[in-house]
Amino acid sequence: MDKPFLAKLRRIDPYVPGEQPQSDDIIKLNANENPYPPAPGVQEALRTFDASRLALYPDANGKALKTALANRFGVKPTQVFLGNGSDDVLALAFQSFFCSDEPILYPDITYSFYPVWCDLFRIPYETVPLDETFCVNVRDYDKPNGGIVLPNPNAPTGRGVSLDFLEDLLQHNADCVVIIDEAYVDFGAQSAVPLIEKYENLLVVQTMSKSRSLAGLRIGYALGSETLIATLEAVKNSYNSYTMDALALAAGEAAVADEAYFQDTCRKVMATRERTADALRELGFSVQPSLTNFLFVTHPTKKAPEIFEYLRQKNIFIRYFKLPRIDNYLRITVGTDEQMDRMLEALRAFL
Ligand code: PMP
Repeated sequence: MDKPFLAKLRRIDPYVPGEQPQSDDIIKLNANENPYPPAPGVQEALRTFDASRLALYPDANGKALKTALANRFGVKPTQVFLGNGSDDVLALAFQSFFCSDEPILYPDITYSFYPVWCDLFRIPYETVPLDETFCVNVRDYDKPNGGIVLPNPNAPTGRGVSLDFLEDLLQHNADCVVIIDEAYVDFGAQSAVPLIEKYENLLVVQTMSKSRSLAGLRIGYALGSETLIATLEAVKNSYNSYTMDALALAAGEAAVADEAYFQDTCRKVMATRERTADALRELGFSVQPSLTNFLFVTHPTKKAPEIFEYLRQKNIFIRYFKLPRIDNYLRITVGTDEQMDRMLEALRAFL
């Protein structure tokens, strides 16, 4: 080889996020973004932000936002960790807590970033098959492991598990860290946050990207015992002390301050989801029960990639994963009622 340094470079298959087409003339239902704007207070915080503050480093500890989140969730600020989107929080949690030689466990059908972090950080892992209806069987996790990560609700299936399920999981896995990825929890699922007091090995990860309409600002956070949070802080401060910029901190605080707007936005998305699910069933689709801001569907006669391509031609972007077991499924983000109507109209013409 004439360039020997090439053999020394890291080779890795990265995660591929949903396409971000740059045209305004599209209906974008492929990245589980919120169709509504962030709370009015967020816009105000950004508008009145004093740019001269940007000359200084932000508060590395994000004290004000941590305090706002701690009050919102009834925990101490020392039980809150902040990151540049929940991907950042999850990546740091994988590095911080999955350090044993035993494999970590997660479902075979789940967020496709998990195997990428395992490869990046050289964490051994084992996938646990969901049953044929895409449900998680808690007893499948009763085996030696180096940790567990489970999204609740799961993505891309949309299905959630109960608090009893999570408690059972925690009771049988007291010797490792259990991460519950609650990226979509605000759209109708039960949060594991009330279990934090009882289970010191539980880390709950949430994001402002979905239910708080702030995907563009990158705000994620974790809630857990002071022991877990202190470990995350130590790992973060061994890597990049300033993961949160000053604008994101200010906007995040404003988002948490408006509980009513947040609740209202979630309610609207959930109502549109149910309406769209009914309409899709009328078109012959089989629709997974969803506790998220997306629907996971399959059609008995039209193949998923064909539907995906057809909608794409019509400037309607949804998500298709060419992966085992789900390669005839489509994931459709819940947009506004009007966006859903336009998608349904396009589908009616095609099916
Ligand atoms: N977890 C799951 C299950 C997700 O689907 C996503 C969104 N891609 C994330 C975490 C990360 O979201 P963000 O980094 O925007 O907070």
